[in-house]
Amino acid sequence: MSPSQTLEDESHPSITAVNRRIQRLSLHLTPLPPFQPSPQLHMLECAKAANKLEVDKASLQCYMRGKNRELQEKVINFFESRPDLQTPVGIPMEEHRELCMRQIVALVRDAKIRPFRYVVDDPAKYFAITEAVGSIDVSLGIKVGVQFSLWGGSVLNLGTKKHRDKYFDGIDNVDYPGCFAMTELHHGSNVQGLQTTATFDPITDEFIIDTPNDGAIKWWIGNAAVHGKFATVFAKLILPTHDSKKVSDMGVHAFIVPIRHLKTHQTLPGIEIQDCGHKIGLNGVDNGALRFRSVRIPRDNLLNRFGDVSRDGKYTSSLPTINKRFAAMLGELVGGRVGLAYSSVGFLKISVTIAVRYSLLRQQFGPPQQPEVSILDYQSQQHKLMPMLASTYAFHFAAQYLVEKYSEMKKTHDEQLVADVHALSAGLKSYMTSYTAKSLSTCREACGGHGYAAVNRFGSLRNDHDIFQTFEGDNTVLLQQVAADLLKQYKDKFQGGTLSVTWNYLRESMNTYLSQPNPITARWESTDHLRDPKFQLDAFRYRTSRLLQSVAARLRKHSKTLGSFGAWNRCLNHLLTLAESHIESVILARFIEAVQNCPDASSQAALKLVCDLYALDRIWNDIGTYRNVDYVAPNKAKAIHKLTEYLCFQVRNIAGELIDAFDIPESITRAPIAMQSEAYSQYTHHVGFQ
Ligand SMILES: Cc1cc2nc3c(=O)[nH]c(=O)nc-3n(C[C@H](O)[C@H](O)[C@H](O)COP(=O)(O)OP(=O)(O)OC[C@H]3O[C@@H](n4cnc5c(N)ncnc54)[C@H](O)[C@@H]3O)c2cc1C
Repeated sequence: MSPSQTLEDESHPSITAVNRRIQRLSLHLTPLPPFQPSPQLHMLECAKAANKLEVDKASLQCYMRGKNRELQEKVINFFESRPDLQTPVGIPMEEHRELCMRQIVALVRDAKIRPFRYVVDDPAKYFAITEAVGSIDVSLGIKVGVQFSLWGGSVLNLGTKKHRDKYFDGIDNVDYPGCFAMTELHHGSNVQGLQTTATFDPITDEFIIDTPNDGAIKWWIGNAAVHGKFATVFAKLILPTHDSKKVSDMGVHAFIVPIRHLKTHQTLPGIEIQDCGHKIGLNGVDNGALRFRSVRIPRDNLLNRFGDVSRDGKYTSSLPTINKRFAAMLGELVGGRVGLAYSSVGFLKISVTIAVRYSLLRQQFGPPQQPEVSILDYQSQQHKLMPMLASTYAFHFAAQYLVEKYSEMKKTHDEQLVADVHALSAGLKSYMTSYTAKSLSTCREACGGHGYAAVNRFGSLRNDHDIFQTFEGDNTVLLQQVAADLLKQYKDKFQGGTLSVTWNYLRESMNTYLSQPNPITARWESTDHLRDPKFQLDAFRYRTSRLLQSVAARLRKHSKTLGSFGAWNRCLNHLLTLAESHIESVILARFIEAVQNCPDASSQAALKLVCDLYALDRIWNDIGTYRNVDYVAPNKAKAIHKLTEYLCFQVRNIAGELIDAFDIPESITRAPIAMQSEAYSQYTHHVGFQ
């Protein structure tokens, strides 16, 4: 039962049933009008022919090439030229951590690539570098993220000029390796529940950082166990007052706390550091735990962009409430999330490339007395990999869009854009990293036993990437932020307020989507209609609008008896479905736009094929929802299924060209099972045969 159906059943079951019956009857009375295909579809006849589509690989590659591809190539070539910096399979944890540190230092000092310089001024370049270093070793990508985006980014984004002047060079050249110490043992997702305190001492003009109990020990902190010299510590700012309470809690703020001596690297007094130990992945990153025993830091170490304390202990801020300050602070930290989404798509590209290449090469069984067939000719293998290949393309354009919006936000600081990027990054990060995590397992399985050999990369990619679903915001928690944002937009709309730029489809078309499904279009089943982007996007948006409307009604109803927290929990799965549905429609809209903007006709036709597969596969996966409300009649559902299978087959025919268009250097997709030529010699050589 879909969430939207739940609402109907709860509110007006009889009216809905009557409406459906009337719609069905009206079908017999109204003849179907001829369908007029949209003009852009005329050129996209490709899928009608059973023949393989001719793809101009060079032009598709050129279109897919990001603006910063040369910079990425520079990074990859640098590591390729330095065998001493390559990560061997099965490297022990301690060696891996040291290697990662050497890699990051070499990147900055030998290759002269300075990621920190781009963190604020040109984020697209920064994300391109992190994707490239992550493809060398995921641990290195995360170590770079901790140093420049989390530790460095907190100084730049939460601090002011005095902090930039004092710390920029040390962070940039890695003289000051640092940490981002937010999570505590008892509080991860619920950041507002943090218990570490920073109490102002007006006599010495210092803050005193304290861990009040073991639940407040900072936990999982990257760079803390071995290399960090500083930490940005998130703590409740406590000010002395002259009233009966004696102190006032100003909410969570960020403070720079030196944790090790700059020269001797000894742990500083009052600070205890422990190692979080061996993890199931990312063992090149030294995660540690920090406990503070009355550690004194100068007042200047408060990162004071959103709130400051004067010499005489007065608090000032341009933002009126703790919640507003907290939101502003977190709003500045979304860059990490954007980076994870972007890199996750990079890992999806790598693993799809390996799995598809292997599936094209690998042959098993065949008709009697005939050569064995490629395993990608099995329908089941196509269904595992072709929709995934289509999603990879879809995510590529969505991730580019996210980076564009984030860069624009960094330039303009437009308030509405800040809110949009916050929700967009939360949604895309959670949706895409969850998808990639599942796909990494599917790709391993699609390569059979050879997919299990560590040298073929799936194990390390899967284990290293797995935590992308949790850090920088747990995916289930982030999706709720998207749902909350949509509900706010929904409420605003009906109260006559403005809608966000990113979600403006709600303003334009909510009324259309929420009207009863059209019994005539519900039966249209021609290929032209099903491949029309308008039909596809309408279907996605209809589903989202309906989920939004129904969950809003359910929340209203349940909050009367359960209160707002209880009502939210009662509707939680419905809310998560809403958020995912919305994100899928955002991704599809970007893909459709990318197809339309493609300047080369042959590449455009290939992209259109892939985009159709992405859209129809999603609709088919959720066909129950569409059928439940008669948005799609039985004949149309059948046509969607048939066309999806056909598109899978067509995409399989150009799968080689499609993965080549990702243009990932062989050194990255170096899995011996997936090398185009000499496949077996590479592999047998690897295990020792000459
Ligand atoms: C390898 C690694 C590196 C890290 N690096 C850092 C770092 O450098 N700095 C730092 O500060 N932190 C770091 N973290 C911590 C990370 O950010 C947290 O683990 C993350 O925010 C999730 O918090 P948690 O672990 O407490 O999970 P919890 O919040 O306890 O979540 C556990 C489960 O409960 C569910 N859940 C929680 N709340 C809700 C809700 N409201 N509704 C529904 N379900 C809910 C979640 O979906 C999840 O499945 C790192 C963690 C790891 C593992």
